[in-house]
Amino acid sequence: MKSARLTSGRHLPIGKILCIGRNYSDHIKELGNATPEAPVIFIKPASSVIGEGDAIVIPPYSRECHYEVELALLIGRKGKDIPVDRAMEHIAGYGVGIDLTLRDVQDVQKKKGLPWEIAKGFDTACPLSAFVEASGVADPQNLQIRLTVNGKVRQDGNTSMMIHRIPAIISHMSGCFTLEPGDVILTGTPAGVSRIVPGDHLVAEIPGVATLRVSVA
Ligand code: ZN
Repeated sequence: MKSARLTSGRHLPIGKILCIGRNYSDHIKELGNATPEAPVIFIKPASSVIGEGDAIVIPPYSRECHYEVELALLIGRKGKDIPVDRAMEHIAGYGVGIDLTLRDVQDVQKKKGLPWEIAKGFDTACPLSAFVEASGVADPQNLQIRLTVNGKVRQDGNTSMMIHRIPAIISHMSGCFTLEPGDVILTGTPAGVSRIVPGDHLVAEIPGVATLRVSVA
């Protein structure tokens, strides 16, 4: 079983990974999508998680794997229908994750009205850093978030640019799915997404919170 590591030494077995799509307006523009009224939600399985130093394996059925750097929340307390003003109490820690997306496969699935799992939930599709304890992050809604590929900065945003903010995301998701300790929430990506190819080296970073280095096999 994959487990989420907190900097305090605590471990939680990873449950479901809940993701929100289209949560930064600059990223919606670059993909030519409409701004959704309700958050777009999808799930990655725990089996898709890899960690520091691991390799991304692009499945043979795709020619276009994109990175999306995202602030990751680790849930520490169970909850259902969590009110917005109690949402932050459910967060155990913060980290950085990469929501890998097979854009060509996703585009086909979208056109056919089919689910996205094969584009979003494949093995290695969810690189995750270690998590810093929630008490160690003063303002999670004002964090620089950056991704470099082979030393070049490709995404450079701030969590203040989220459309749906962290408490609203937790409250909304917990209305559909009971949140449990070990669940992870990926909160959306800023602009700059692009393709990766074998041999690329990626560094995802939230300065002062987390760093994650992975490569493409
Ligand atoms: Zn994403």
